[in-house]
Amino acid sequence: MSALVKTWGPRRSGFTLLELLVVVVLITVLLCILVPSLSRAIRQAEDTVCMHNLKEVYQSLQVYRLDHDGWIPISDGQAGHAVPNSWFGKLYPHYLHDPELLRCPADPMQPGLTDFAHVSGSSYGLSDFVQSSPQGFLANLDRRQPRRPMDTLLIADVGPDGTYAMAGTNPGPWVAHRTSGRLPCDDSFNEGSSEVVLPWLTSRHSGAINTVTLGGSLRRVPTLELMGCTVSSYYATCAAGDCPLCTDLHVPHYSFAHAGTFWWTGPVPQP
Ligand SMILES: [Zn+2]
Ligand SMILES: [Zn+2]
Repeated sequence: MSALVKTWGPRRSGFTLLELLVVVVLITVLLCILVPSLSRAIRQAEDTVCMHNLKEVYQSLQVYRLDHDGWIPISDGQAGHAVPNSWFGKLYPHYLHDPELLRCPADPMQPGLTDFAHVSGSSYGLSDFVQSSPQGFLANLDRRQPRRPMDTLLIADVGPDGTYAMAGTNPGPWVAHRTSGRLPCDDSFNEGSSEVVLPWLTSRHSGAINTVTLGGSLRRVPTLELMGCTVSSYYATCAAGDCPLCTDLHVPHYSFAHAGTFWWTGPVPQP
């Protein structure tokens, strides 16, 4: 009997250092495998939700258009910098029932949209070329059809995805691009008397933005290589043939020609 007890010895408790090390290494290896695929899945989910939002916002715009003799809502001049005077403020609540649709899940600024009375902006902007040039006469989509509506930009993810200081104000994220939901053709925005350069371009969807065109085509536009470029350098890359900003108007503009997307296609009718 005593020999048996000796054979078994005292019961060992806990792990040895070696066992602990093996477990730690295994967990680390598992995390290294799982984390990238998990973050990839999250990015894909954000992309899907954003595209869904754009589709819904586009559809609400179409219903508004039917009710308004072809006009889509546009932001009112300087007053358009306030949310109620913005194009999306005019859609809510009658045409756009859920303000959450204005929030891109990949937008790091995450505009507070759960209570529209205190809404601070939109993750999406409407082409400023369509909205306001000149006097918004392009915003009647029944009368001003571009040559290729499927390739003509209407709504897209808008930045900046960071905090900017306006002249004479404290740094704040809600610059005019977001409160008025505008996509200017170039990288600057004339805010009151002082010209402040506020690039709106973002690349928050893995180096791209999501867009919907006038014809309702959902499109991913790579923007990473445009980030930080000067106006003249991206202007130079535009395909001149069907872009009136290049051929007729000669205005500097962001070019999305590499994704087959333009601010306008064909000639621009005079008001
Ligand atoms: Zn988005
Ligand atoms: Zn162009």
